Amino acid sequence: MAEKTIFKRIIDKEIPAKIVYEDDHCLAFEDIHPAAPIHLIVIPKREIASVDDVNATDEIVVGHLFTAMRAIAAKLGIQSGYRVVTNCGRDAGQEVMHLHFHMLAGRKFGWPPG
Ligand code: 5GP
Repeated sequence: MAEKTIFKRIIDKEIPAKIVYEDDHCLAFEDIHPAAPIHLIVIPKREIASVDDVNATDEIVVGHLFTAMRAIAAKLGIQSGYRVVTNCGRDAGQEVMHLHFHMLAGRKFGWPPG
């Protein structure tokens, strides 16, 4: 069997993370190397490697990640905006092969990204 990703190990509570939100379908926790005052990783509990691996049966769970992010922003009192980023594949710098959204807030962000 393939080795679990670090995020699957966080889902399975094998390694600790600072969890800020959890429900039946998703989990959000603080990034270990924050790039902003608020930097969360939001993931589906279902194992999907990347955007490039999302299929029709994943549509509801992937859509759910967005309503969860909106709920998280409200819970944390983020009022001045936030950035949602997903890296897909090598050129984008994806390190962990479990679909995840970076949710960044607490400062202004430049555009275009690096
Ligand atoms: P990627 O480059 O794949 O889009 O982002 C992976 C992110 O996961 C990085 O921002 C990295 O800091 C974060 N990360 C990697 N390992 C861990 C870990 O064990 N715990 C937490 N909380 N974040 C991690």
